[in-house]
Amino acid sequence: DLVPLRRALISVSDKTGLVDLAQALAARGVELLSTGGTALALRKAGLSVRDVADVTGFPEMMDGRVKTLHPKVHGGLLALRDDQEHLAAMEAHGIAPIDLLVVNLYPFEETVAKGAAYADCIENIDIGGPAMIRAAAKNHAFVNVVTDVEDYHALLAELDANDDQTTLAFRKKLAQIAYARTAAYDAAVSTWMAAAIGEQTPRRRAFAGTLAQSLRYGENPHQKAAFYVDGSNRPGVATATQHQGKELSYNNINDTDAAFELVAEFDPAEGPACAIIKHANPCGVARGATLAEAYSRAFDCDRTSAFGGIVALNQTLDAATAEEIVKIFTEVVIAPGADDAAKEIFAAKKNLRLLTTDGLPDAKAALLAYRQVAGGFLVQDKDTGHVSAADLKVVTRIAPTDAQIADLLFAWNVAKHVKSNAIVYVRDGATVGVGAGQMSRVDSALIAAKKAERMAEALGLAEPLTKGSAVASDAFFPFPDGLLEAAAAGATCVIQPGGSMRDDEVIAAADEAGLAMVFTGQRHFRH
Ligand code: 5GP
Repeated sequence: DLVPLRRALISVSDKTGLVDLAQALAARGVELLSTGGTALALRKAGLSVRDVADVTGFPEMMDGRVKTLHPKVHGGLLALRDDQEHLAAMEAHGIAPIDLLVVNLYPFEETVAKGAAYADCIENIDIGGPAMIRAAAKNHAFVNVVTDVEDYHALLAELDANDDQTTLAFRKKLAQIAYARTAAYDAAVSTWMAAAIGEQTPRRRAFAGTLAQSLRYGENPHQKAAFYVDGSNRPGVATATQHQGKELSYNNINDTDAAFELVAEFDPAEGPACAIIKHANPCGVARGATLAEAYSRAFDCDRTSAFGGIVALNQTLDAATAEEIVKIFTEVVIAPGADDAAKEIFAAKKNLRLLTTDGLPDAKAALLAYRQVAGGFLVQDKDTGHVSAADLKVVTRIAPTDAQIADLLFAWNVAKHVKSNAIVYVRDGATVGVGAGQMSRVDSALIAAKKAERMAEALGLAEPLTKGSAVASDAFFPFPDGLLEAAAAGATCVIQPGGSMRDDEVIAAADEAGLAMVFTGQRHFRH
């Protein structure tokens, strides 16, 4: 199943590595065919190339829409070399075999990412390229197809190892990558079109990704796993620079994303903020006069859980904050930058992973969120719901003060990032108790209060910090019981969506307990 290379067709938009590859092929005696721009680049480098137009007898036309769409090209890619009829057809029509196709496509994804106009995006949909790629990949029994600059080296290494021939196993690998590339390309076109025509729920949807990292294992050691990126280049764990520490694990990536998305709720222009995450749930979130103070206050919410956590910051990591962070074991720190002094402090902690990005994720960006179920997947808009003071409806006799409103909104923003049922107690811009993921809202309220009691003991406080706190509930209280637990823990004001059948009962209980309560009219379930 070894196949020698005699003729190659090279047609690439991204000319990276092109000349080196072509030179290496020419040195092996491979004849080169090329389209306009590619041929020009090769001739400039002193290589001898034959134009595809010369082979087909047709000029490239219609702004390049028709260049290689011709039986002389497609016959050369698709003909079975061991089939008498195919060989006779080649002979009859003057079709020469093409053994290697090197194509990378018009930069459609990049054109969309630049925010180009509709017509410009359309013009950047490659037609002949994918047609050739699919043909060559189908005929991998005889043909090599390279669609990725990253595979140029692998091709040359394969030729070196096999006396200028390639193995079937190698060609199969190339074909698999090739079909993933054309599928991803059309997925990008379709996704772009859905957005361009305002189609939220198209009848068919396609997704694709590019391998960013093979992971050592998944959520558990017996699960295989990998990390794929979608090419959107958003600031976040997918595009972060890692400065030190071991490779990120599956759980690290998941938790780091949760931490960074949460801290991005806090505009850096309004001051430093820090979020500490464990198992995708926050165990401490705080603002501070300085970043170091924000970290310390977040840490003081639940020191036990913060051990081995993931820390996300909304501002550049500085030395004072780094000094605080290294006092306990932390898995990952992610921030929109880190100064040299901070990096130096971290350097002593070999296992600590430091990631920096070019900014914060946009908490308001219109994105889709997916979840797999047996036989399909659920798609929804990412939860970008946001309320401000003006959206709040006071439902109790007592109205919250401005300071209480600030804490209520803080608690609300955190609750959005806590698994349901979520109860979050906040005092002076710092969480003091987080209850997450319970099947009953009462239990979440109780657990959060219990954690606050434990922290008060550890910190040597006279009473838990939930005394005089603001409390948020991610969804309405179906009964007064959860609200009463929060009141018993010392909460003095409440934020919740409202909308329960028993709102009246819940409001009456709040009035009786002397609480101020506001409704947001919006829910933040997160499962
Ligand atoms: P070049 O820079 O060589 O002029 O053009 C290379 C690009 O043209 C490659 O990205 C290749 O996929 C694309 N291409 C090759 N043949 C055709 C064709 O027949 N139609 C279209 N639309 N693109 C083609």
